[in-house]
Amino acid sequence: MVDRFELGREFFAQLEQEDEKIAREVAAGVCQKCERGALHRSDYSRKPRGGLIAPGGEGSVRRFSLCCDQEGCRKRATPPSLRFLGRRVYLGAVVTVASMLARVIANATELRQVTGVPVRTTRRWLGWWGGPFVSTSVFVAVCARLVGVAVSRHGELADTGAGAAVLGNPARCVAWLANKLASFGAGLKAGDIILPGAVHRMIGVAPGDVFQAEFDHLGTVTARFAGTEDTP
Ligand SMILES: [Zn+2]
Repeated sequence: MVDRFELGREFFAQLEQEDEKIAREVAAGVCQKCERGALHRSDYSRKPRGGLIAPGGEGSVRRFSLCCDQEGCRKRATPPSLRFLGRRVYLGAVVTVASMLARVIANATELRQVTGVPVRTTRRWLGWWGGPFVSTSVFVAVCARLVGVAVSRHGELADTGAGAAVLGNPARCVAWLANKLASFGAGLKAGDIILPGAVHRMIGVAPGDVFQAEFDHLGTVTARFAGTEDTP
């Protein structure tokens, strides 16, 4: 049995403050569609559900939103939010917590009693986390930043690193390279292999050295250097 879990009003008040900051940051830029319009506040009301997990976050809530001021464009720009997860009627925190609970509570009746969310809804969310979510640009970027590597020399750990060590995200190196090559009139072709740069410190190599780099989820690369340490 899992204890009842409740997110209170203060929690959502903090998320609202963060949402306000995000909205101000987005509003400081220009419209992404016409690339010149200023963005004006155009908030609207939403009535999110909290189930039994977040009754304090329910009620009428302002969804911070922006609108381009250019005649003929008027495109709406809704900044990312910590309170809402897309257009889901339940609060984002409820979707997250109920999904986690669904992983540990197998009994449908118990799950419903703890979350207050219909079980078929929770199951649909689990399908989303395991399917469409993993191909979202946000998730792909986070994975690339966090992919870890352990480098060993002769089986002894020499250093560790993470993808974020290369310009914050290895994909940025690929973008940089593509732009640089374009400035020389060249480009990248399908099938090209790109080395985005090391994510660990430089390590000296001697003849006969064997290095192994183990990448989280990706696999292992082994490099052997010719010769022995006795024969230069
Ligand atoms: Zn516009």
